Amino acid sequence: MQAEIIAVGSELLTPDRLDTNSLFLTQRLNHLGIAVVRKTIVGDQHDQVRDAFQRALERAELVISTGGLGPTLDDLTREAVAELLGRKVMINEAVLHHIEARFRRLGRTMPEVNKRQAMMLEGADLLENSRGTAPGQWIEAAGRILVLLPGPPHELQAMFAEKVEPRLERLAGATRLFYRELRTAGLTESEVEERIAPIYAPYSDVQTTILTAPGEIQIHLRIWSDDPASAERLLEELVGRITFALGENVFTANGQALEEIVARELTLHQATIATAESCTGGLLAERLTRIPGSSSYFLGGVVCYSNNLKIAWTDVSPALLEAKGAVSPEVAQALAEGIRRRTGATLGIGITGVAGPGGGSPDKPVGLVHIGLADAAGSRERGLRFPGDRERIRWHASQTALDMVRRYFLYARQEKTARPGGVQG
Ligand code: ATP
Ligand code: MG
Repeated sequence: MQAEIIAVGSELLTPDRLDTNSLFLTQRLNHLGIAVVRKTIVGDQHDQVRDAFQRALERAELVISTGGLGPTLDDLTREAVAELLGRKVMINEAVLHHIEARFRRLGRTMPEVNKRQAMMLEGADLLENSRGTAPGQWIEAAGRILVLLPGPPHELQAMFAEKVEPRLERLAGATRLFYRELRTAGLTESEVEERIAPIYAPYSDVQTTILTAPGEIQIHLRIWSDDPASAERLLEELVGRITFALGENVFTANGQALEEIVARELTLHQATIATAESCTGGLLAERLTRIPGSSSYFLGGVVCYSNNLKIAWTDVSPALLEAKGAVSPEVAQALAEGIRRRTGATLGIGITGVAGPGGGSPDKPVGLVHIGLADAAGSRERGLRFPGDRERIRWHASQTALDMVRRYFLYARQEKTARPGGVQG
C-alpha cells in the first residue's frame, strides 16, 4: 500500500516550525509495509487544504493528515474535507460529552468554540483522543482511506498507536520494511563509500544510503520483503561484510547514538567519567547525561573557559598555560588529569580548542581542538582540526571525545584478551 501525508498548519510554512509528525508517521507506516510516496505541507487556508486532499486522494490509497482539528476558526481540516467529499459535518453528542467532561475534570467549563471539535464528518469513524480534546476521524471514500489526526505530537502519536495502527495492520499486505542502521566514527564519507561500494552493490534488493552527520557517517540498509526470515538473513550478511570492511570504526549496527554506546561501555566496565570542557561549553557533559541512568557513570564536569578557572578547578599549572597556551596538547591532558584527580573518576576528559569564528591564529587556526583522556596510568591526547562553523566544530569535538572513550574500552578489551594468562573479561 502507498500513502501520502498532509501536514496542515501555517506555522509549518514559517522558518520557526518543522513538520515532525510526518517523520513519526513515516516510520510507523514503513513498519506496517506502507510506503510514503509524497508529503504535502499546507497552510490554514480552506481552498489550499481542500486542494491538497484532492490531489493526494487522486494518487494514493491512504491519505493521513495532521493538524487543523483544533477549536479555532483557522482549524478547518474537517470543513475542507467535508466539502471535497460532499459530506455533511455534524455535532457528535458523545464526543461533545467527552470534551465537556474533560474540561470539567480540569475544573473549567467548556468554551463555546470547543464545540467545533465535536464535529464529525458523515460516515466517519471516531478515533478517540486519549491525550486531548479533538478526536481523529477515519473516513473511507471511493476506495480510499482518509485519516484525520490532530497536530500536537503527543496526541497524534498516542492516537496513531491506539486507534490507527491496529486498523492499518489488518489492511496492509504482508510486505514489511526491514532495516539496519550502521554508524561509523573516524572515517570520511568518501572513505566509507570507497570501502563498501563493492560490497553492497551486488545486493540489489537492499536500498543502501550513506548519510553524513557531523562526526559520523551513517549507512542505512532497507529492504521491503514479505519473507522476514530471508530479509533478516540478507541484512545480517550485509551488515557482517560491511562491518568487516570498516572495522572498529563502526560503533553501532542498530542506529544508536555514540553517547549510548559510551554509556554502555562505562556501565559494563563499572567505570566513571568526569569532564573539563573549554570550547565545547558543557556539550560533552550534556550528551553524557542524555542517557537515563547516567548518574551511575557520570560524576560531573566543569566548564572552564578562562585560564584562571582552568587553574582553580583543574590545577592546570600557570607556567604550562603560559608556555604552551590554553589550546595545546599539554593543557588538554592537564585538564583531563586534573578533573580526574579532583573527582576520583576512572576517566577524565579535557577539551580545549578554537571554536571560532574569531580567535584563530596561523599556528592555532579556527577548528583546532585538543582532547585529553586520562586514566590511572596517565593520559593521551588527540589534536584535530575540524571543518565548519562554530556549532559543527563544537559538536565534532564532543563526538571525537566520546569516540576516544569508546576506543579506550575497545583496546582495553583487546589487551585483556590478548594477554596470555591475563584476566579474561
Ligand atoms: P489544537 O487542538 O491544539 O489546535 P490541531 O489539531 O488544530 O490541535 P494544530 O493547531 O495544527 O493542531 O497544531 C497544534 C500544535 O501541534 C502546533 O502548535 C504545533 O506545535 C504542533 N504541530 C502541528 N502540526 C505539526 C507537525 N506536522 N509536526 C510537528 N508539530 C506539529
Ligand atoms: Mg489548531
